[in-house]
Amino acid sequence: MNSPNRMLQAAKVLQESEKVLIFTHQRPDGDALGSSFGLKYFLENTGKTAVVFIPGAIPHRHTKLFAGFISEITQEEFNTFDTFVSVDCANPDRLGKPELLSIDELRQKRYINIDHHKGNSMESGFFNLVSGETASCSELLVKIFCAAKIEIPEICATPLLTGMMTDTGCFRFSNTSADTMRNAAILLERGAELEKIVNALFFSKPLNQVRFENELMRDHLKFAAEGRIAYAFIPPELAKKYDFNIKEDEGLIDLLREIDGVVIAMLLYTGPGGIKISMRSKDSAFPVGPVARFFNGGGHELAAGATFDGSAGEAEIAVVDKLAQLFE
Ligand code: 5GP
Ligand code: MN
Repeated sequence: MNSPNRMLQAAKVLQESEKVLIFTHQRPDGDALGSSFGLKYFLENTGKTAVVFIPGAIPHRHTKLFAGFISEITQEEFNTFDTFVSVDCANPDRLGKPELLSIDELRQKRYINIDHHKGNSMESGFFNLVSGETASCSELLVKIFCAAKIEIPEICATPLLTGMMTDTGCFRFSNTSADTMRNAAILLERGAELEKIVNALFFSKPLNQVRFENELMRDHLKFAAEGRIAYAFIPPELAKKYDFNIKEDEGLIDLLREIDGVVIAMLLYTGPGGIKISMRSKDSAFPVGPVARFFNGGGHELAAGATFDGSAGEAEIAVVDKLAQLFE
């Protein structure tokens, strides 16, 4: 548990920065973006310079909510920042682009690590705030601002609520606490645009994606452990057929999770470093976190992932076997 005093210290080190580079994990989701932009706007509002660095494009659904980040940075530009902050990034492997951001180099700097993943291994030598009990990194920022009695600027409210809604599955997942609801209420009071968030996150699916999902569910859905595990490998040619960008997969796994009787949902697809495994559990008695860690991945107990070094077939057999053991 992080004490209010620790939250206060976090606010202090953030406020003592002048020119801040903010970054997060690769393939950023709503919480990664929400906490990055929530922090950027907060710092700017207090007269600081803050830049969000995201190597690569952001998912389609987020383009209406988040704009104004850099995707390239030279060593010279990098050296002009006095403070570096990572948000929602659990380990150095997830930083991506090691040629642009190296953890060893960051650790020589005034580097602040703010995250809500229990197993966080970013390990800043300067300041770490890792709160595994907080549902989203965006909510952790709300807690920091509240501990420091800072009135959250209106411009921060929409990004932070986007992050909170993303990581709680719109307040459906068990990580939603009474505090989560209170913190969301604070953001609404500060002017968060709920309708804009809901439309962007839930009612903006491109038609090609809908058609892709239909074929995926019709032809590629498999079950194990008497229907308690649902899984699917996404064939690259299927994604190509519908011009579906696998990087837009956020939410795709819910097509499997929502099925009655399914306890664990898993998606597999071909990623840059191997076969990407994405897992969700609906029941804390059957956590997927340990399975992800077994395959050298990580995440949370009910939402975790890993990258498998081998073929899709091998990944499918190995991971389904390990998941099925949970039910033996
Ligand atoms: P997703 O399934 O949405 O990609 O990720 C779910 C959770 O698992 C996230 O919190 C993410 O940090 C974690 N995760 C996903 N893939 C990996 C991976 O390859 N390695 C590690 N360490 N964590 C992962
Ligand atoms: Mn998160």
